[in-house]
Amino acid sequence: MDKNVTMEKIVSLCKRRGFIFPSSEIYGGFSAIYDFGPYGAELENNIKKEWWKNMVQLRDDIVGLDSAIFMHPKVWEASGHVAGFSDPLTECRKCHSRLRVDHLLKDVGIAADEKMSDEEINKIFLKNKDKIKCTNCGAKDFTEARKFNLLVKSNLGNFTEDWTKDPVYLRGETCQGIYVNYKNVLDSSRVKIPFGIAQIGKAFRNEITARQFIFRTREFEQMEMQYFTSPDEEMKEYEKLKKYRWDYYVKSLGIRKENLSWKKHDNLVFYAKEAYDIEYNYPFGFKELEGVHARGNYDLSQHSKYSGQDFTYVDQLKGKKYVPHIIESSAGVGRTLLAVICDVYTEEEVNGEKRAVLKFKNNLAPIKAAVFPLLKNKTELVAKAKEIYDNFKIKFMCEFDDNGNIGKRYRRQDEIGTPFCLTVDFDSLQNNDITVRDRDTMKQERVKIDELEDYLKKKLGE
Ligand code: ATP
Repeated sequence: MDKNVTMEKIVSLCKRRGFIFPSSEIYGGFSAIYDFGPYGAELENNIKKEWWKNMVQLRDDIVGLDSAIFMHPKVWEASGHVAGFSDPLTECRKCHSRLRVDHLLKDVGIAADEKMSDEEINKIFLKNKDKIKCTNCGAKDFTEARKFNLLVKSNLGNFTEDWTKDPVYLRGETCQGIYVNYKNVLDSSRVKIPFGIAQIGKAFRNEITARQFIFRTREFEQMEMQYFTSPDEEMKEYEKLKKYRWDYYVKSLGIRKENLSWKKHDNLVFYAKEAYDIEYNYPFGFKELEGVHARGNYDLSQHSKYSGQDFTYVDQLKGKKYVPHIIESSAGVGRTLLAVICDVYTEEEVNGEKRAVLKFKNNLAPIKAAVFPLLKNKTELVAKAKEIYDNFKIKFMCEFDDNGNIGKRYRRQDEIGTPFCLTVDFDSLQNNDITVRDRDTMKQERVKIDELEDYLKKKLGE
């Protein structure tokens, strides 16, 4: 990461250049919810496209799914979310900020897990009260910790006054849609164990402390893949998945290796075999980007218990019967997008002036090429530039810009990370060529307009 990166700079650039806006901003914003602007939406789509390519398109053993956000409430009982999907919460008695106790403890170097019981966490919390300060006002006076359920409730299909007693939940994670469709997929496609089901979709959590921009939001998108294996191959497949996911961040997204790290879970939930997170070095430190977990057969066993369905798999090859074990890869779209932006954000000095540039890998850049006429008021230049733009926009995301001077247009395209700027000038009309300016080197090259398509295709494919 560029040493100049701060969250203030990232948030400001994201707003100024149309990547990310606070939700309902004209009404003062809406806590922990964000909207993605024109370039943010493009970047999100490119990240999702790359994930789908890696997890579905290139894999003979993984198929896609798009399950609904609303599910039968029993799903969340079976998964354990109704009883146990909760974070330990405390309130600062001075400024009334609500804070997560496991986070406060971690900040002072004390290992705590959100899965600990109220009693366990309160014991550690009390013992260390003197060290812990409110992250908002610095006071050291807190209420007792209590668990707070993170599931978001709705009255879907319930027209009574007291629907809160019998709510329908907005899904807290996308993988439950995969588990409940395991048999449908198995019976309707050609898959055989080991195989995976992948999906991208929204999830909702009533997060208590929503800080750090889009890192922790109440509405977010997940990219999850659940891989069904035989019990004896679970750990072998797990190691393969770990490597595959690491390579995806480095090779497909171009994230620098030194900004990624593996974090092992020390306090495993009782059914888990092993759990690691891939962390990214955000400006606020190394934090979880994705979880890669070996979950045993807990998920299918729970759904079997609650639904009465039998999920036993008859393995013809091995001559065995078992309830499949699951290894999962679970990543957030927002956290990936934030990691990518932080990773490519660069400040440079050009002729005594500062430029900020997002050096995206070409596959992620929201706009691949911008076309300019040198001058706005010369109709021949504008017409030629428009013609080129109209030809290329069919092929990839392009932008036409005739505002301000060339220098300003370059700065704008640098800040949204456009790899190539193409300028039509008076020589272009004579020689049928164009100036191509490279975002990273800022070098300019003359390219014949007839050869431009091949030139860009080759460069963008690199
Ligand atoms: P954390 O410990 O940070 O709360 P988690 O362990 O609860 O995260 P998981 O339930 O494993 O997260 O979810 C898988 C992935 O979904 C995370 O790695 C993250 O990328 C994303 N994610 C989870 N919660 C949020 C959120 N509130 N906002 C944005 N992304 C999230």
